[in-house]
Amino acid sequence: MSASTAIEVPNIGDFKDVEVIEILVKVGETIKKEQSLLTVESDKATLDIPAPADGIIESLLVKIGDKISQGTLLGHYRSSTGNTASGTNTTTPAATVSTVKSDKQKTSAPSKTNDSDPALHAEVIVIGGGPGGYTAAFRAADLGKQVVLIEKDPMLGGVCLNVGCIPSKTLLHVAQIINETKTMAAHGVEFDAPKIDIKKLVAQKNDVIKKLTDGLIGLTKKRNVEVIYGIAQFDSPHSVSIQTKDGTKNLQFDYAIIAAGSEPVVLPQLPKDPRIIDSTGALALDDIPEKLLVIGGGIIGLEMAMVYDALGSAVTVVELSPGLIPGCDRDLVKPLEKMIRARYAAIYLGTQVTEIKTGKKLNVSFTGKDAPTNAEFDKVLVAVGRRPNGDKISAQNAGIMVSERGFIQTDNQMRSNVPHIFAIGDITGPPMLAHKATHEAKVAAEVIAGHKTYFDARTIPSVAYTDPEIAWMGLTEEEAKQQNIDYEKGAFPWAASGRSLSLGRSEGLTKLLFEKNSGRILGAGIVGPNAGELIAEAVLALEMNATAADIALSIHPHPTLSETLNFAAEIVEGSITDLYFPKK
Ligand code: FAD
Repeated sequence: MSASTAIEVPNIGDFKDVEVIEILVKVGETIKKEQSLLTVESDKATLDIPAPADGIIESLLVKIGDKISQGTLLGHYRSSTGNTASGTNTTTPAATVSTVKSDKQKTSAPSKTNDSDPALHAEVIVIGGGPGGYTAAFRAADLGKQVVLIEKDPMLGGVCLNVGCIPSKTLLHVAQIINETKTMAAHGVEFDAPKIDIKKLVAQKNDVIKKLTDGLIGLTKKRNVEVIYGIAQFDSPHSVSIQTKDGTKNLQFDYAIIAAGSEPVVLPQLPKDPRIIDSTGALALDDIPEKLLVIGGGIIGLEMAMVYDALGSAVTVVELSPGLIPGCDRDLVKPLEKMIRARYAAIYLGTQVTEIKTGKKLNVSFTGKDAPTNAEFDKVLVAVGRRPNGDKISAQNAGIMVSERGFIQTDNQMRSNVPHIFAIGDITGPPMLAHKATHEAKVAAEVIAGHKTYFDARTIPSVAYTDPEIAWMGLTEEEAKQQNIDYEKGAFPWAASGRSLSLGRSEGLTKLLFEKNSGRILGAGIVGPNAGELIAEAVLALEMNATAADIALSIHPHPTLSETLNFAAEIVEGSITDLYFPKK
């Protein structure tokens, strides 16, 4: 005959002092392992507390209305198999969380098991094969974890490799070359107008994508990361079902990393018409419209505008806020705006698109002080931001909190509110950038592997790969002013850079901000060719707590654009000789 065994509340994540709303068993009742014993309710979810093993209930120490937390003694049972250690506590399987937010319905789902069929169990699952997901999967595998990576699309790489960073930069390179050949006349070299073979251009872009995505498949094989192609949905805190082309697979896991990313925001008031496209449609480059309207003057909108302008479209940009690239300092945006105002058909700021009528052309209505009431376009690109996929993974079945906007909030170890479930990348919030996703990915994988790692970046740099490029990191000057921070600024105009002038460019600017007392770098902004490459030095300086003196005294090669950082720091140090710019 086995002895009496205590039943305690298992790990129920962040739920504390939750109220018992239903008791589902009676003293003397025979219970089966994982059978629901009682139901508790918080303001976010209802949870079922499962039985730890087969047995007979001997006592129940809680009643409806009691508040319980992890570890609360619920009662005792006697094992029917007789193999429970005498007088010990039994670990109750994880609670089944039913519903987060308001509509609380209960579901029964399997809880964590470590003795399940290994084919259906992973130590770590990663949902989403974008830069966040594949980095997390690779890092976790390198740290000895058995990893399954789940991706809904037939290829790895996510938005960045397939319909984001990489294809856009491939096309932007072409646009850049086309634009540069036009400026060569001033250097005494004239080129004929380019002959553009769109099919070849698209094939070359797709070739770049394929090289990278094929490379990822090779890396998964080398690391023994199993990839399942299908749509993952949480069934419980320790299981997902995956809809694959061969049917549904169920998978249990110890840890999950959610890297399900984001998708373009759709403007619901606009009609559905194949000529109204998003960034993915724009990158497909089906045709080059005569007249293109870009809705959204942020980074993605302006990058795509540059591509289509170079390929021959008459481009109009409309932006709701009063300036292009909101969030970036105005002095950095100015040279870009000047350049593209001269090149594009029109740029309307503080302007809203109110309606699009579809006919032979797309007839677009605007409200804004400088915009016409309406104008006709052949295509409209909507680039008004991206929306996280947090509400598309049945997160509520695992008890994961998802914000109204679809983001999953994490702590600085990338843990969601459910401690064994992590979230990384676009789904965790802005800035939605690939380099943020990959760094968060490494933190999540390392924490799962038992490392004391934190996401502790002092800055996540931003780059607009426009012409000229704009890059910034750390504090913007606008933020420094708003926060009343005592700062010193070194702003070096590229008109005084030998390297910049030799490239035929003079509009650039390198601006460094330093804390007045300590001299430590606070922020940097660069506009000009290759700004995106140059900003990395400022990022390192910020992470290393470098001062203006450190940057001014570091010998930069001459003649380079990188010298402009050196000169900007020298302005603050009062040691600049390339300009007559004495320290005040
Ligand atoms: P994603 O790349 O979005 O990957 C998420 C993956 O999860 C997708 O493959 C998706 O299919 C999969 N998935 C979703 N739901 C499920 C599910 N239920 N089951 C299984 N799989 C699922 N960032 C930069 O840093 N630099 C740039 O130059 C840059 N340029 C960009 C240009 C464009 C046009 C766009 C659109 C974006 C650009 N970005 C850029 C942003 C960058 O692409 C994203 O920040 C980055 O891809 C986010 O990575 P992620 O891993 O979080 O998500």
